[in-house]
Amino acid sequence: ASLHGDHEHGHRPAGGDLPRPRADDPQAIRTVGVIGGGTAGYLTALALRAKRPWLEVTLVESKGLPIIGVGEATVPSMVPFLHHYLGIDPRHLYEQVRPTWKLGIRFDWGANPAGFMAPFDWNSNSVGMLGSLATRGDINAFTLQSLLMMADRAPVYRLDDGRHLSLMKRLPFAYHLDNERFVRFLTELALARGVQHVEARLQEAVLSGPDRVESLRTDDGRELRFDMYVDCSGFRSFLLGKTLDVPFRSYADSLFTDSAVTGNLGHGDHLKPYTRATTMDAGWCWTIPTPESDHLGYVYSSAHLSDEEAAAELARKFPGIGPPRQVRFRVGRRDEAWRGNVFGIGNSYAFVEPLESSGLMMITLGVLALVGSLPASWADPTGREVVNAALAQKWDAIRWFLSLHYKFNDRLDTPFWRDARENADVSGLRPLLDVFAAGAPLRFRDPITRGFLEATAPTFYGLEGVDCILLGQNVPARLLPMTEPVELWQARKDAADIMVRRALPVRDSLHAYHTVAELHEELLEDPDSWVVRSGVD
Ligand code: FAD
Repeated sequence: ASLHGDHEHGHRPAGGDLPRPRADDPQAIRTVGVIGGGTAGYLTALALRAKRPWLEVTLVESKGLPIIGVGEATVPSMVPFLHHYLGIDPRHLYEQVRPTWKLGIRFDWGANPAGFMAPFDWNSNSVGMLGSLATRGDINAFTLQSLLMMADRAPVYRLDDGRHLSLMKRLPFAYHLDNERFVRFLTELALARGVQHVEARLQEAVLSGPDRVESLRTDDGRELRFDMYVDCSGFRSFLLGKTLDVPFRSYADSLFTDSAVTGNLGHGDHLKPYTRATTMDAGWCWTIPTPESDHLGYVYSSAHLSDEEAAAELARKFPGIGPPRQVRFRVGRRDEAWRGNVFGIGNSYAFVEPLESSGLMMITLGVLALVGSLPASWADPTGREVVNAALAQKWDAIRWFLSLHYKFNDRLDTPFWRDARENADVSGLRPLLDVFAAGAPLRFRDPITRGFLEATAPTFYGLEGVDCILLGQNVPARLLPMTEPVELWQARKDAADIMVRRALPVRDSLHAYHTVAELHEELLEDPDSWVVRSGVD
């Protein structure tokens, strides 16, 4: 299964051809211990049950070691992952988790006071980037979704006869998921689907070889034994880090933040269809809408700002915000996700700060990798090295993509932002930046140049994603000439404006999905829907 829709049609669904253990095989993998009860642990356990139902899956967590409890903005791949891959009924999710929709990220970033939109339909260029730059001096009118974001609307329409017409299946979107409700939902679902649950604090692991965990000892003297271990223990990294000592590579040269202070703020019943990222003195602040309130988090660098100063700045810039909660993190990845019979998923393996909501996305990618490549027996060959190399490459690409957000944001002249502009390491994308300066957008460069860039630059979101971030921040480049009269662009923009004006406000659009089951069916089953075409099933 692919996360980005770059699959071949007619592929076999993941799980359909997965090998089962033989009854007489002493090295068969029959039991899996998932260590950790955060989103990584529960999504992993649910996926193993869904795709390898013959496995006995046990999730171990300690209530005394709380989950990180943040991580609420996702990317579109989460929608097929939840509903197709895990088979979660959207009506249950809407009822119990009450997600809101995310059409993209709105960046209060760069010199333009309006900031810029990074919509999820960035690949479509449906209205036109060059026309937007030529007529407005920014990229904010380059797709239908960016226009919807600016107008706080979602593409659902009420017809004269009272029925609804939805374009959500045409435009990729993601969920905002209240963390507490989401983890509770996953916990109940896991128990209902036969995941064994053990409440225990693990003290140490017993090894039977340099990279082989034999069993786990709990602090009350129990011994837990599995054939395979998935480390979802968060930043504690109980198996991958503490036990196996897999080296950690820091990304702190590119990404300077290491802390967050969070709080909730009333939104007066006005739901926005995006995650907002607002430049702050020593970092940035997310605003994530939930039906009840906005959830905010100031991500900052403790080297540039104390915890008290961060909380004070958050309260000053967002008056009325609720009591602050502090979170610490570190950015980077371990050398391997999979060593011996241990596979790390979630923060135990890698983490980057949440500017592009990569946490849950990379958890789902780890899960797809584990489920797709776990052998039936330790006597069988594994694809361990390929999995490790591919995951490492993806994480490094995200690091470089994020570094562009720091290097070029010239909104504030504070010590943190001066430091970021001068010193953030963007070396992984340096050659691409030269090509960009010579002619942008990259999406319109000739096929040879594009092919070379795609083969050599670790972009993660593709050249179109890089265009959006760089042109959104007005990074200087020679713009390619428009290949159509501006009137043609304007006609498309006028048509898009009509679609935006007639679209419902977010709350009304969401309400339609709470009440009309066919809208979900259409989204999840129509062969033309982006959810079906994503290939995650
Ligand atoms: P945790 O939630 O920390 O869970 C660890 C689990 O391991 C706990 O259940 C604990 O009990 C258990 N455990 C640990 N040690 C032991 C032991 N010795 N014995 C027994 N149990 C043990 N991601 C997004 O996709 N979108 C976002 O908007 C986003 N925002 C974020 C903002 C911040 C500030 C941070 C830090 C992260 C954000 N993330 C986001 C990432 C996301 O929160 C995490 O990737 C995700 O929650 C996964 O956490 P986890 O399950 O790996 O670990």
